[in-house]
Amino acid sequence: MITFKNVAKKYPDGFEALKNIDFHIKKGELIALIGPSGCGKTTTMKMINRLIEPTGGTILIDGEDISEKDPVKLRRNIGYVIQQIGLLPHMTIGENISLVPRLKGWKKDKYDHKIDELLNLVGLDPETFKDRYPSELSGGQQQRIGVIRALAAEPPVILMDEPFSALDPISREQLQDELIKLQDTIQKTIVFVTHDMDEALKIADRIAIMREGRIVQFDTPERILRHPADDFVKGFIGEQRLEDLSNDKPAAADLMIDKVVTARASRGLAEALKMMKRYKVDSLMVTNPEDQLLGIATIGAVERFYNEEDKTIGDIMDKDFHAVELESPYTDVAEVFAKKRASFIPVLNNGKLAGLITQSTMMRGLAGMKTSARQEGGSLDEQ
Ligand code: ADP
Ligand code: MG
Repeated sequence: MITFKNVAKKYPDGFEALKNIDFHIKKGELIALIGPSGCGKTTTMKMINRLIEPTGGTILIDGEDISEKDPVKLRRNIGYVIQQIGLLPHMTIGENISLVPRLKGWKKDKYDHKIDELLNLVGLDPETFKDRYPSELSGGQQQRIGVIRALAAEPPVILMDEPFSALDPISREQLQDELIKLQDTIQKTIVFVTHDMDEALKIADRIAIMREGRIVQFDTPERILRHPADDFVKGFIGEQRLEDLSNDKPAAADLMIDKVVTARASRGLAEALKMMKRYKVDSLMVTNPEDQLLGIATIGAVERFYNEEDKTIGDIMDKDFHAVELESPYTDVAEVFAKKRASFIPVLNNGKLAGLITQSTMMRGLAGMKTSARQEGGSLDEQ
């Protein structure tokens, strides 16, 4: 569908923005171009609709050299979405969406129908939105209009240059999800520029990673994650993500709940009992102001000493507990459960209490389920 053959861009000042770019994008593919600022993503993209002309090489769309085409006609068959939205402020949403179809001479019936269809596609009610002006929409809504406007004339190719970068994280996720769904139906050839690897991994069929005017790797998300071409690509994927991949064995941190019911050693036993009832727990983690774990007060011990009114939690707590560290492998956790017959295990981070593992949070963690069914945490000293 789109082929770059040895494409280069050298500016008059001698700067080589693109060096020998070669790639082929298949029909219906969604390609992400990703790389640091200034690496040539936008330049590559703007060459496809001839907003920038190469100084070397050839670009073909459907086998035809685009340098021989009328740029205006070419652009009418290529949708274009940019970060700054670019809606025309004096036109209604409906007029904005139907701009290119009208330029192409579509009949009113046809483009009216298209406006409704596209608004529905991104969950905006046509009756509510088509007669509004861009300024009457939120940023996320405006960007949705930007996306569907690019689809309106049913172009086979769509270019999107960091279309969601200016949005808040929630709208951004929503639009990414919508784009994925949209692409399932429309199956266009989409070139999507981003500097966000999470976004690229989420939406793209293949990712081209660029650096200083070259493509260093062009592959599926799966293959890029498994076989990064070099250290630059590794850096771009991120240390954390690679670690997550190599470390599929969970550690204590993945198995614990991090909201734990704590109490200070100086508190009395009636307070301890009230706290246990309130949070429906049978033990309190006794901590000092630095969050260090001093001991564990069990309901059994509290009841045993309950009649001795001047006893504190510190007096009755069990100081002989077995804890694990955040990064302890799950095998260590399982061993503590087995050998110490513990019903739960505190998790420490440099001596500070970080969480708690019970048999059930461990099973959930091992099954890859989030330990989100968290009990409510609490502290005697918050009251
Ligand atoms: P990005 O990957 O951030 O989208 P661009 O494709 O916009 O990067 O730019 C690629 C490089 O080309 C940048 O280093 C930019 O400074 C340079 N560049 C853009 N326009 C010109 C110009 N007219 N003259 C010289 N260098 C330019
Ligand atoms: Mg750019």
